[in-house]
Amino acid sequence: MRTLRNLMTIALVTIVLGCATTGPGGKKSLIVIPTSYEVAIGQGMAEQIRQQETILQDSVWQNYVTEIGQRIVEVSDRQGIEYHFAVIESDQINAFAAPGGYIYFYTGLLKIMDTEAEFAAVMAHEISHIVARHSIQRIQAAMGAQLAYQLVFGDEGAGEALNAAIGIGMNLAMAGYSRDAEREADEYGVIYMKRAGYHPDATVNMFQSLAEAGGGGERNVFEDLFASHPQTQERIANVKKQIDGMKPLPDTLTRGRDKFQQMLSRLN
Ligand SMILES: [Zn+2]
Repeated sequence: MRTLRNLMTIALVTIVLGCATTGPGGKKSLIVIPTSYEVAIGQGMAEQIRQQETILQDSVWQNYVTEIGQRIVEVSDRQGIEYHFAVIESDQINAFAAPGGYIYFYTGLLKIMDTEAEFAAVMAHEISHIVARHSIQRIQAAMGAQLAYQLVFGDEGAGEALNAAIGIGMNLAMAGYSRDAEREADEYGVIYMKRAGYHPDATVNMFQSLAEAGGGGERNVFEDLFASHPQTQERIANVKKQIDGMKPLPDTLTRGRDKFQQMLSRLN
């Protein structure tokens, strides 16, 4: 009986909170875990990432990543949380977002890019995952109703449930998102790029660089994408179509090659 009551409460809370939650472009999504817990899970994950990975200790890069990140956040559909950006020293060609506003870039990924706009394309894509709450959705689904209830309403069980959620988040962090989630992040990434004053076609260049790095365009290494994800060529085609629909694009949009090359020269 208790389980049934819990499930009914979850269902009710899902309806109430779900209506208050918006994704990119003001879309509704069903998320029972409130923002405060999403941020707490992200914080817990960030602590583990700090212990497991080598965070690049370069204040020039740190400021640069934060500056570009904030530029995109300001034009995004999710403000009101604090965003944190960091660079991980690793040859892996990857980037990822933890729930609640934590975004990471591997130096391996930065090195295959050419312009600031390409970097901003990945940034906008990752911010879109946070705006759409893709990570917390996955964590919530993996937690199940009982554990999610314990997290949100539990007294003594809450700390335990939070740790469980952080563990689930860490396991899911590199597992890749659903095709729909990737499509949504691609689509909003392009919109945010343009709003932030970047040439959105840098998204295409970024995908092409990733395709080359991933080997013949068949396998996309972005977020360690698996076979279930839209292939790079399909994503490129979607993004190109979206950008065509935005034309004519203003002349003021930038690519920022010089600054980015200068930043790259700081990496070993
Ligand atoms: Zn993604």
